[in-house]
Amino acid sequence: MTEALDINVIKAERSKLNDLNLENIPFGKYFSDHMLEADYENGEWKNVEIKPYQPLLLEPSLSALHYGQAIFEGIKAYRSDNREAFIFRPYDNFRRFNISAERMNMPEVPEEIFIEGMRQLIELDKNWIPARKDHSLYIRPVMFATDTMLGVKPSDSYKFLILLSPTGPYYAAPMKIAVEEKYTRAAPGGVGFSKNAGNYGGSMRAATEAKKQGYDQVLWTDAFEHKWLQEVGMMNVFFIINGLVVTPSLEEGTILAGVTRDSAITLLKEMGYTVDERKISIDELTEAYRKGHLQEVFGTGTAATIAMIQELKYRDEIMHFDTSKFKVAIELREKMNNIKEGRIEDKYGWLYKI
Ligand code: PMP
Repeated sequence: MTEALDINVIKAERSKLNDLNLENIPFGKYFSDHMLEADYENGEWKNVEIKPYQPLLLEPSLSALHYGQAIFEGIKAYRSDNREAFIFRPYDNFRRFNISAERMNMPEVPEEIFIEGMRQLIELDKNWIPARKDHSLYIRPVMFATDTMLGVKPSDSYKFLILLSPTGPYYAAPMKIAVEEKYTRAAPGGVGFSKNAGNYGGSMRAATEAKKQGYDQVLWTDAFEHKWLQEVGMMNVFFIINGLVVTPSLEEGTILAGVTRDSAITLLKEMGYTVDERKISIDELTEAYRKGHLQEVFGTGTAATIAMIQELKYRDEIMHFDTSKFKVAIELREKMNNIKEGRIEDKYGWLYKI
């Protein structure tokens, strides 16, 4: 038995909520009244505190800034008028966070801090979950190294934070994607499966170059042949080929194991589709397209849930898709929304009541 976590709570003097206009709220720009903070020192977590959202005072020699031991998660909480607030699959993010921590040589964050701390924080800032259709509260746990010396070594001290940011509907217009053949996101033995800050820093140049050519994001390929498909931007990727669902498999460790990916696979199977998690190459994809077998391409992730792809560019070939005719992606999105909005039973226990 774990003891109940003793979290010191310092409440904000006044709420900022009434100052905020939730119409067209930009993603990740505004934060709720409180945040959770905990420190890891001398082999243990301490000073677990919920307090007003505020700046941190950090030394310029902070290890995370120099050597990149920094990991995070992205989770959503929802509320509707007639139902209790809930978090979507937080235990899956908790497990993934500690997988990232292990890979980056950082300490595990215990469940009482990650899950119970998150629950208490959201309970306090419950009114920040927008009770509007397609709105949610984005939850950002983050941990980084806080040693203050320039030797290159795993830090001995770390800070863990949870931030809350109200968010509106993600503008999920059909995307245009360029297949990436110059840059690499992840290689076997690397850190692709972990949600560490450097993966995002390292991907920005490719996305910027794709944007200059009129594309929203890139479809990442493997490091050696630039042929095997990995992920689309910061989402997992799904293909519908001749009615079968294909998504790249995770075993090489180059792909982030998306919680939405897992939810999609579970629901698609329940809906009667065959889901093939396997290696898939750009050659197989272009050939399927030429034969008229490639019916749908879409990405999955917490931010957009399902993002349909209307154009895929590979070298001189441009593949077009009429996303209004996508059957699987639309059916899947509806099913996910129905679970989150309580219209169908949560039979997998994905909704964690706050
Ligand atoms: N891949 C990458 C690189 C990501 O950053 C994300 C977003 N966390 C995903 C995939 C999708 O994961 P999830 O469904 O858990 O949001």
